[in-house]
Amino acid sequence: MTIELSDRVNAVPPSGIRRFFEIAEERDDVISLGVGEPDFSTPWAARDAAIASLEQGKTSYTANRGKRELREAIADYAADRFDLGYDPDEEIIVTAGASEAVDLAFRALVDPGDTVAIAQPSYISYEPGVVFAGGEVLPVPTREEDEFRLTVETLEAAGASEADLLVLCYPNNPTGAIMRESDLEPVAEFAREHDLTVLSDEIYAELTYEVDGSDTSSGGTHTSIATLPGMRERTVVFNGFSKAHAMTGLRLGYALAPADVVGAMNRIHQYTMLSAPTTAQYAALEALESCDDEVKKMVDQYDRRRRFVLSRFREIGMDVFEAKGAFYCFPEVPEGWTAEEFAEAILREQGVAVVPGDVFGDGGEGHLRVSYATGLEELREALGRIEAFLEERD
Ligand code: PMP
Repeated sequence: MTIELSDRVNAVPPSGIRRFFEIAEERDDVISLGVGEPDFSTPWAARDAAIASLEQGKTSYTANRGKRELREAIADYAADRFDLGYDPDEEIIVTAGASEAVDLAFRALVDPGDTVAIAQPSYISYEPGVVFAGGEVLPVPTREEDEFRLTVETLEAAGASEADLLVLCYPNNPTGAIMRESDLEPVAEFAREHDLTVLSDEIYAELTYEVDGSDTSSGGTHTSIATLPGMRERTVVFNGFSKAHAMTGLRLGYALAPADVVGAMNRIHQYTMLSAPTTAQYAALEALESCDDEVKKMVDQYDRRRRFVLSRFREIGMDVFEAKGAFYCFPEVPEGWTAEEFAEAILREQGVAVVPGDVFGDGGEGHLRVSYATGLEELREALGRIEAFLEERD
């Protein structure tokens, strides 16, 4: 006898990234530029706060929506840093990673048959999340000539005016694209005009390096679409501690949204999760209270690596658009290759692991996602190996 799996699970294929990790695991000389997580450890102050909380036996559940003190700190941070004003009691929910917040939002807002437009290429979890919630995915491919920014033209061409929700991820995983305020304005207008709810994944907001030519080191400031006129009431913002605070394994994120949406998300969360990890909430509180300098140092490092990787790709003859956020760049594979073939060949022949862009949806084909959440020395070595691979074929 086999136990019958649900249609929803059967409808979702296994993650396309996994296969590459499996090949990478077969050998021990692989440099991985494939992962989407910081190579830094969590700042010590945050780790110490987590340790102290354990020593004091603070291991109970917290309020469903997260510790009030943490929600207050998140509200202050979001207001100071990104001009986002949210009430800690009604409009903020702390979750097990931004991943849980994204899943809760889909489950709270999507009815069977609803259409969710997703600007792509994008993080791989949105599509399955929509399917698990019973919705239909409408891919909206962004284009390299638009620097992978979402435009009204592409929204219209994809038929997104008929959609119910729109998912955005800027700074973007996998392209490293950002959207400036002037890029967001027409998208916001489109959302208002067609009554779309916007789910805006801003987990890389701190990792914004350049906006409008501000090319001083890590000089950019992220703009949230929720700050645009008439958008706060139709937007759910996701953020978390995994990226900027190097806390992936602690699993802590949050959503900012109007009270009824947060209430609905909490209705699911209180039954499925009860509360986000308590130890991680202590770490996160400390991270917001005392780790700004550490975050800045990490962001400066990413920015240096970004500049290095972009210039090295160009030097070895691979086209790459100017990534300005997150910790990825998105070079084009040379002519005659698919992204998958090229990624597999450099992995097998040179031991460099990257992720083929197709994995991230429409618009990603012919590209590689290269993560620079890796030390400069390794990046230098990896780019040297890719250069050697290309030279062998000249
Ligand atoms: N959103 C994006 C765009 C991501 O890249 C990731 C992690 N790769 C997540 C969400 C998940 O973050 P968390 O660890 O907070 O669940």
